[in-house]
Amino acid sequence: MEFGNHMRSIKEKIEWAKRTYQRTCQEKEILDESISEMLKELEKKIARSSEVMKKNGVSRMCAECGDMSCCGEGIEERFDPVTILINYMLGVEVQEERVKKGWCIFLTERGCSLKAREIICINYLCDKIKEMLSLDELREVQLVCGEEMDLLFKLSEEIKKRLRRQ
Ligand code: SF4
Ligand code: SF4
Repeated sequence: MEFGNHMRSIKEKIEWAKRTYQRTCQEKEILDESISEMLKELEKKIARSSEVMKKNGVSRMCAECGDMSCCGEGIEERFDPVTILINYMLGVEVQEERVKKGWCIFLTERGCSLKAREIICINYLCDKIKEMLSLDELREVQLVCGEEMDLLFKLSEEIKKRLRRQ
């Protein structure tokens, strides 16, 4: 089964992820025991990253950014459709319409509406944040984010292997 490369727009990717999730969650073709375990582990890693971001003041600073946030319109076009599929698997009701012009399609007034964010989102820390954090805090943030990204990548690759077999 082909996925990813032929899809150009974020709407197409969301539509593909939704259809694939509806099909696979009923028939368990992809959502098998091993994938379910990895999903549970990913939720824990996401929760841990979020905890560290809150503790170190990153979440507060991002919330204060408002319209100056780095979550701008167009970033969503760089999403891998499998990352959107993972969000459906994690029970996220994926937002299909942009809340505000200039914002990423997944951004809401309360921040990002996704659980599994793309590597480019997890990995990004602006200069303002880097200046605010002590070296130890920065290392801690990078460590938890690194673990989240590693697992997201592994999970995504496992899902792709199963999709290719179909
Ligand atoms: S990473 Fe920096 S620019 Fe992006 S939302 Fe957070 S504070 Fe704002
Ligand atoms: S997916 Fe979430 S974190 Fe990434 S740019 Fe969009 S709103 Fe920001």
